[in-house]
Amino acid sequence: MLALFAASLALVATGCSSGGGQRSPEAVKAPTVDELVANTLREGPGRGSSAYQTPNPSVIASLVATLREMIQDVHPLAPAGFAIVKVGPLGEPRDAGTAALVELPRAGRTSGQGLYVVNGSNVEGTLRRVVQVPHPTSDRLTEDLGAEIFKALAKVLPPGSANMLMVAGAHRTADGGRADVAHNSDTAFAAISDSFVQSGTVAVQLHGFDEGAHDGVGDAVVSTGDRSGSLTARRVVQALTAAGFDVCAYGGTICTGLGATTNVQGVHARAAGAAWVHVELSARLRQEPGQSSRVVAALVAALT
Ligand SMILES: [Zn+2]
Repeated sequence: MLALFAASLALVATGCSSGGGQRSPEAVKAPTVDELVANTLREGPGRGSSAYQTPNPSVIASLVATLREMIQDVHPLAPAGFAIVKVGPLGEPRDAGTAALVELPRAGRTSGQGLYVVNGSNVEGTLRRVVQVPHPTSDRLTEDLGAEIFKALAKVLPPGSANMLMVAGAHRTADGGRADVAHNSDTAFAAISDSFVQSGTVAVQLHGFDEGAHDGVGDAVVSTGDRSGSLTARRVVQALTAAGFDVCAYGGTICTGLGATTNVQGVHARAAGAAWVHVELSARLRQEPGQSSRVVAALVAALT
């Protein structure tokens, strides 16, 4: 399976466009979003690993520039050590074209810089919706929920706009916690979020909590990262509540342990005027198929 996927990656990585929805023979072999997410986690530094590497500023700048060109659909070249991969169709009935920026493994392992998938395009290089998964594996199944939300948003993406899925490339505990992208601003994930989660962008960041450690907060906690709240956060609260979940809307005095007040993406997004919403989900909502599909539907409805 791994060898097959590697061959597929090598074949499609030579393409440099985010698409246009063409159905070439290459597109048939293009990996799915789910395969790219699974590959990123399998190859990335795991729990407590020392393999995570904090990227140097020039690498970060190259990744941001490449992603901007991918959003603009101007045929960028990937930085050394990375590849631009054509992704299988996901935006039926209108496929806006999807491409991913991935780190190439060396001896089967990456340094944990993450996965960035772009659907659609925008000439100004700005994003309409961003789905962020900063703690994959650690916050179990948030990576699957993020991929499902991203795919569902693709189906309602207006022409001339673009969405991005961001998945951290390492377990948050790797390199003594330096790999925790939600709390370290020197990561590729943080720099890419800061560059593209701007005024006019709606971003949702997915987390999971252990009910045993956070008694009495219900099924989900929704926060903007401070006490201000926002229209988007209220819509998320309303949609999850309408789906039948017990939701805590963070306001500074309740569900305080899960308000994301130290989240570095949140700090920057609020300063930039973006609509950034942090969603903590109980294990029950993430693990039970009937529940997780309702979570995805509710979040998609609130974000569109
Ligand atoms: Zn988390």
